[in-house]
Amino acid sequence: MSMFSVRQQDIAEKIESNVALSNWKDWRWQLRHAVTDIATFEHLLGVEFTRDERKALQETIDRFPLSVTPYYLSLINTSDFRNDPVFRQSFPSPSERIISDYDMADPLAEDSDSPVPGVTHRYPDRVLFHISNICAMYCRHCTRKRKVGDLDRIPVRREVRQGLAYIREHPEVRDVLLSGGDPFMLNDDYLDWILTELRGIPHVEVIRIGTRIPVVLPYRVTDSLVRMLKKHHPIWINTHFNHPAEITTSSREALAKLADAGIPLGNQSVLLAGVNDCPRIMKTLVHKLVQNRVRPYYLYQCDLSEGLSHFRTPVGKGIEIVESLIGHTSGFAVPTYVIDAPGGGGKIPVMPNYLISWSTNKVVLRNYEGVITTYKEPDAYEPVFCDRRCEQCTLQLKVDSAEDDYRSVGIAELLSDQDDVISLIPDSNERLNRRTGGDDEA
Ligand SMILES: *Cc1c(COP(=O)(O)O)cnc(C)c1O
Repeated sequence: MSMFSVRQQDIAEKIESNVALSNWKDWRWQLRHAVTDIATFEHLLGVEFTRDERKALQETIDRFPLSVTPYYLSLINTSDFRNDPVFRQSFPSPSERIISDYDMADPLAEDSDSPVPGVTHRYPDRVLFHISNICAMYCRHCTRKRKVGDLDRIPVRREVRQGLAYIREHPEVRDVLLSGGDPFMLNDDYLDWILTELRGIPHVEVIRIGTRIPVVLPYRVTDSLVRMLKKHHPIWINTHFNHPAEITTSSREALAKLADAGIPLGNQSVLLAGVNDCPRIMKTLVHKLVQNRVRPYYLYQCDLSEGLSHFRTPVGKGIEIVESLIGHTSGFAVPTYVIDAPGGGGKIPVMPNYLISWSTNKVVLRNYEGVITTYKEPDAYEPVFCDRRCEQCTLQLKVDSAEDDYRSVGIAELLSDQDDVISLIPDSNERLNRRTGGDDEA
């Protein structure tokens, strides 16, 4: 069982005298006492800023609000708080006011790819469904910073119904990713209702929940929440640990409850300058995650959202981190490093190169140690002709739904023999637009 640490007791006493451990561990108590102003933050942490600093900080939170749970605040190491990873993720930096030319309010074009409010339908078979616009802690690196604290945008039941109707009308949606805000900020009954509605849609195979609750408010993972979630399997959960210091006794207990309920757990980290842009930190983090039955899923390059410039690293830092993991540790402890394409192109995986060269029957590879090796390809390989008509093929797919999705798209279409498309051409290609005065037939 988690105990009151001396730090936590000190903070709790400052909030409310004679406070009991049971209050501290009550998630509603934590939310009631969320810290939303600079003075309280200083008081609870026992630090002081100068008058100039306060002014800059106030300007920052006027634009991007502040909110942090006493629990998450208690993880800050006060002896070097300015460099503390928890402090940097939760406390405003005046640098957030720097908006560069490349910054965008909605870099991932989530609002443009939104057929109905709250639903982002970007990929063929899955949707992002924003069911909450509130969070237990406002991450300073939030990609949806534009919406943080915007109380007008809390999805009302009518909007959630619209989203559910969209999913119901789109049989290609087999995976629904509940996001927000944080879905676990909704109460159990309301979340139960949404999950029940989704489970009533026959083509929804998998429901995923994206939440930072195990990191910033682990006490929200109550027995009753977990009992409710279990009714709606298969449920997958992705959480968001960025630094090993976030893995505490309390967060371990929350993760264990979820894993014991049979929920596969994943983690999405964001690569953040001054927080986790270090191969040793990331390796420690992924080891701690897998010890707690959480599989590292994605490592994100920091988005081009407004106010995040001080958090961004070069892409090379992410590649260096992946280089330090592949081969050096368990395969399932290595996240996929992705850049979420500005403009809504989706996640693009990036990794070190392992294929050095190749000929028609041999490839040259290098491994994590730098050993250069060859792989001999077969001299005789009879490729299976594929026009995606599975009923005429000698390979046996034989599942009922196979014919529902027999067309390939994108680069996969170029690789297939399904039609005579030989290139994908951007709308704005000047050379082709010149041909026959704007007739851009390839
Ligand atoms: C990340 C994301 C998903 C899920 O992507 P996976 O690669 O399947 O995890 C779905 N929709 C949107 C809009 C996303 O940003």
